[in-house]
Amino acid sequence: MTKQPEIKFTKLFIDGQFVDSVNGKKFDAINPSTGKKLCDVTEGDETDVDKAVEAARRAFKLGSKWRTMDASSRGHLICKLADLIERDAEYLAALETLNNGKPLPEAQLDMVFAVKCLRYYAGWADKIHGQTIPADGSSLVMTRKEPVGVVGQIIPWNYPVLMCAWKFGPALAAGCTIVLKPATETPLTALYLAHLSVEAGFPAGVINVVNGFGDTVGTALTKHPNIQKIAFTGSTAVGRLIMENAAKSNLKRFSLELGGKSPIVVFPDADLDNAVSTCFNAIFSNMGQCCCAGSRTFVHEDIYDEFVKKAAAMAAARKVGNPFDEGVEHGPQVSEKQFNKIIDLVESGKKEGASVKCGGKKWGTEGYFIEPTVFADVTDDMRIAKEEIFGPVQTILKFRTMEELIERANKTYYGLAAGVMTKDMNTALMFAQAVEAGSVWINCYDATTAQTPFGGFKMSGQGRELGEEGLHHYLEVKTITIAIPQKNS
Ligand code: NAD
Repeated sequence: MTKQPEIKFTKLFIDGQFVDSVNGKKFDAINPSTGKKLCDVTEGDETDVDKAVEAARRAFKLGSKWRTMDASSRGHLICKLADLIERDAEYLAALETLNNGKPLPEAQLDMVFAVKCLRYYAGWADKIHGQTIPADGSSLVMTRKEPVGVVGQIIPWNYPVLMCAWKFGPALAAGCTIVLKPATETPLTALYLAHLSVEAGFPAGVINVVNGFGDTVGTALTKHPNIQKIAFTGSTAVGRLIMENAAKSNLKRFSLELGGKSPIVVFPDADLDNAVSTCFNAIFSNMGQCCCAGSRTFVHEDIYDEFVKKAAAMAAARKVGNPFDEGVEHGPQVSEKQFNKIIDLVESGKKEGASVKCGGKKWGTEGYFIEPTVFADVTDDMRIAKEEIFGPVQTILKFRTMEELIERANKTYYGLAAGVMTKDMNTALMFAQAVEAGSVWINCYDATTAQTPFGGFKMSGQGRELGEEGLHHYLEVKTITIAIPQKNS
């Protein structure tokens, strides 16, 4: 297995070809393990977005190869792309680790989930159908589910390949064409997927990738008059801008998967060791860079001290280091910007009176590493309990009663996910019904699958991704009414 995978593609991918940007600009792809430059990447802007949208529109034209293809053949192409990702998974995972910093085994797991997601949606391609409706009057009425058209997809840096799969799968199954903007921090793996899409046999223009910055490429997509829908994953602040731009341009549809401050709750009857490790994985996976991270750990007062002791020991034992090295579980944060944001929040926790039980500072001498950090004695008013840290920082809060817990768990603008650890199903279900969150996991956490809808209440988003729900945003419903001389039941 090669440790430094060769970087094969750095240009924009438009109309089935790798091309330079119109302005000729480039930006740096950075290795977060060292903070050093990996390579130049072609930087697109509004003009390149226009070109990509034109290519996607051509691919979507009535009578085009894509529009006239059997739905089952569309499914077959998506399956082929999944097969090619599986074939090249070792390479793709290594490229992901190089550019994103996640430990290699985590990147390998992302490839498995990406393949599963694409195969799931491949199966949907020829199962998307409308209804016949017994409408009043002499008519035969049917509905058709049609693709919305050209979609803009804007993804973050925390799961670059997996986010592509979450976006590509339903869009392609529905028959849309795509202009994707990867995160500026992680431009590389999406380009390799673009290359695989050619090998899979997708017609030119069905998938386009334009790298660049949020305020140029991202804004151009969200304001574009010929884009019918934006699918976005990222911060709540940018989600708000997307809604504004959609409203001010062509009222394009949008789905938003945004931030969170998700509670994971431990009742005294839970198996303590299992609860400690579930809460640990809920926050420390992917260095805390997960929208549904269990970032507020509520522990019942009867077991609080013991829980804190075990949680701190577990964090202290986590192996930090070069994400390519065997046994390493914890790599760097993705960028200097994220590193600085997290360190600032950690410092605020110290100043506001939380107790550091593990970590609490930078790790090593180069790159953007942060020690797995555990705070106890956290109260609801502290910044670390309110703001999305998006880093390896566990905040452990104490609770006494269910009523108090529910009020405090819901006292946030976010509502993405929640977890509850208890042997008592009545307790679990009482919490599950009361908590304002799009996903609730009982005695597990982040059990997201391709088949299950995922998304947020409140300011954690609009709409759902994955599962059958994830298809709806890519479809328009058309009602066709045919007048007939006489109807019979
Ligand atoms: P971001 O929202 O700025 O970036 C996400 C994507 O949006 C990237 O592709 C980015 O280039 C693009 N973007 C940025 N500005 C845009 C604009 N004006 N119009 C259109 N697209 C734009 O997130 P970030 O700055 O990388 O991270 C900041 C915080 O966002 C993180 O600390 C974390 O709290 C949150 N975040 C959440 C997720 C998630 O999975 N929900 C992922 C990444 C970051």
